Amino acid sequence: MLTQNYQSTGSGGKTMTRWRVMGLSRRNRTVQRALSILAIASIIQWFTGSDVPGSDQQSGEKATVPQPIVRTGSEPGPTVLVVAGIHGNEPAGVKAAQIMACWSVRRGKLVVVSPANPPGVEHRQRTIPGVPKEEADLNRNFVVEGKECRPKGTLAQQLWQHVAQIRPDWLVDLHESVRFHKDRGVGNTFIVYPREETLEVVKKLLAKVNPQITELDERFVVLRWPARGSLARAAGAVLGCQSFILESTRQDPIDRRIAYHCEFVRALLEELQMGLMQ
Ligand SMILES: [Zn+2]
Repeated sequence: MLTQNYQSTGSGGKTMTRWRVMGLSRRNRTVQRALSILAIASIIQWFTGSDVPGSDQQSGEKATVPQPIVRTGSEPGPTVLVVAGIHGNEPAGVKAAQIMACWSVRRGKLVVVSPANPPGVEHRQRTIPGVPKEEADLNRNFVVEGKECRPKGTLAQQLWQHVAQIRPDWLVDLHESVRFHKDRGVGNTFIVYPREETLEVVKKLLAKVNPQITELDERFVVLRWPARGSLARAAGAVLGCQSFILESTRQDPIDRRIAYHCEFVRALLEELQMGLMQ
């Protein structure tokens, strides 16, 4: 069996070798494919000069959430919604969403909404620029009252409108934490709205991807209950969908974070037998 290392260059030029890949399995080829696609996407961005739809939107007051990109299969099946860029300083999710927006499925629908916070991404800041402090963190603006969500601020209202119209069976919200869970962060975790079915499926996703991570204490783990006010919490509570936040960590280089996001969403689509064609 062939052995090769997944290598990437960290900050300061230090070369990090984390993943030991045994053989050229389909999964590992997919990671390599995701990274190749990323390289192509970067070249395209170099020529187009912008990677943020609506990037001239300076203020959160006037900003708009991009229209959902919908990839519809030829056969009926579940709808999976991927949201990225709710926090503007978490670019790997946005890059991963660009890759996923090019995927096709045979069954069901894959829907991508990204970046959810275009002015935050443009300014590379977590919050929404130019809005009152109490509305600045988009992922705290989905207030649940009884059986309804009352979103605070323009972006949250628009995003919730999209989500409510799409009515996904699964909602995946991509984020990048400051620290690993081993260092008291939430990096490399799934934060799940804890329905039984969701937890069962997430366990299977972990079983597929975690063995590729050689550092045992950096493997993904499950946490329960997305924060109050988060999109994942509101979607789980109000729409009744399967919902989770997928958190990589900025302790890892961006290409690895992108690969994790792509790998886990790909594993979900496979688990749901949606016939992913990349
Ligand atoms: Zn975040």
